[in-house]
Amino acid sequence: MTQRRLRAVLGLFFAAGLAVGVYVSTLDGAVLLAAAHAAESGKGEPMVSPVEARERDFYAPNSENLAPDEMRVIACGTGMPTPRPAQAAACFLVELGNGEKFLFDVGDGSVERLFGLQIPTAFLDKVFLGHLHGDHFGGIGALYVAGGIAGRFTPIRIWGPSGSRPELGTKAAIEAMEKMYLWDLEGRIGQTDTRGFATVVTEFDYKKVQVVYEENGVKITAFPAIHAIDGSVSYRLDWNGLSFVYSSDTYPNKWFIEQAQDADLVVHECFIAVPDLVARYRLTPEAALQVGTQIHTAPEAFGKIMSTVKPRMAVAYHFWTGIDSSPGVLERVRKTYDGPLSMAKDYMVWNVTKDDIRVRMAAFEHETWNPPVAYPAKPVSAEDRVGYSPEIEAGRWNVDDVIRPIYEEAGEALGRKFEYPKN
Ligand SMILES: [Zn+2]
Ligand SMILES: [Zn+2]
Repeated sequence: MTQRRLRAVLGLFFAAGLAVGVYVSTLDGAVLLAAAHAAESGKGEPMVSPVEARERDFYAPNSENLAPDEMRVIACGTGMPTPRPAQAAACFLVELGNGEKFLFDVGDGSVERLFGLQIPTAFLDKVFLGHLHGDHFGGIGALYVAGGIAGRFTPIRIWGPSGSRPELGTKAAIEAMEKMYLWDLEGRIGQTDTRGFATVVTEFDYKKVQVVYEENGVKITAFPAIHAIDGSVSYRLDWNGLSFVYSSDTYPNKWFIEQAQDADLVVHECFIAVPDLVARYRLTPEAALQVGTQIHTAPEAFGKIMSTVKPRMAVAYHFWTGIDSSPGVLERVRKTYDGPLSMAKDYMVWNVTKDDIRVRMAAFEHETWNPPVAYPAKPVSAEDRVGYSPEIEAGRWNVDDVIRPIYEEAGEALGRKFEYPKN
C-alpha cells in the first residue's frame, strides 16, 4: 500500500468517526492504520485465536449444565400423523435446573430423537399424554422397550386423560400396549434387567382443570382440549416462577386462553394451511376444511390465540417444516400475531430464564450408540430364561468351536470366568 492510499484509508476512518461524533485519538489512529493494513493484505494478526474455543450458536447435547433457575425445552417431534424423515410426531422434552425431566407426548419416531440427545433413559420416565392419537403417543412402545433395554430399571410413569368410555382412556391404551409387548418382554427375561418393562398410569378426568402432578417444586396442571372426540387435554407446567404450556392438539378453546395467559413458553398446535392440506397432504377439500380448521387450529387462529395470551415466546408446531411449507404457515400466523415466535422444527431448543429466552438448534450425532446408564443393572441368570421347546432346541447347529474362544477372550479381558452355557 502506498503512503497516499494509506492516508486516504485513514482519512476515511477518521471521517466516519467524526461523522458519528466519535473522538479518534492518535493511538486509535495507529490501531486503525494496522487494521487497514491487515484488511488490505488479508492477513496480519488474527482477530480471534486459532485454537481457543468460542461460544457455540448451536446446542450440543449433554454439553451444557442448566443453571438452577433455568428451563430447557427441546422439540423431539413437531410433525404430522403421516411419517416423514425430517420430522417425528409430537414430543416436547422439558428439562429443569432441579434435574427433573418431563415428556409431553411421545409421538411416532420421537424416541430416536430422545436417544440422539444421549440422556440416560432412567431420566426419561415421566410422560404426560395429551390424547391418544398415534402421532402423540405412538412412540410409547419404543420408550417402553428401548428405554427398558438401555437403562431404565423402573416403570415409566404415564399421566393421561380418561375417555368418554373406559376403553377410550389412557389406562386401557397402556394396558393394551403392555400386552402387545408380552413376547418382547418374555424373550428378554434372564438376559437383561427387565424391571423397566412396567408402567404406572395416572388417568384423570379429562373434563376438569386440575393439578395432576406436584413434586419437588414442579406443578403440572391438566385442562380440557377440544379435539376429534372427548378425551383430549392440554398441560401447563409451573416451576420456580417459569411456565411452559403445551396444547397437544386442540381447536382454540377458553381453557387454553386462561391457562396460557402471560406464560413464558407457550407451545400450541398450528396446522398445515388448507390449500396445502389439499395439494400436498392429499386430503379432499371437504376433509381439509374440516381437519384444518375445525379439529385443529388454523395458523390464523393460532395467531389470534397468541395475540390474546401474549407469551414471552409463542411456539407453533404441527405443520410440515421446509422451504415449501413453513413460509406459507408463517405468513398466515403473521396476519394475526406480531409477537415473539418460533416456528418449531425437530431439535429446536429453548433455554428459558427470567431474563432471556434463547432459541437454537441442537446439533446431534446421527450414529449414536446407547446413552450412558444412570443406575446399575440387576444381575440376571440364564436359568430364568423362558427357553425353547425341545423341537426348536434340537435345531441348533454346532458353532461351539468359534463361540467358546469368545467366552475365554471375555474372561481374560475382565479377569473373570464365564460359564459356557449347557445348551
Ligand atoms: Zn390429534
Ligand atoms: Zn396431532
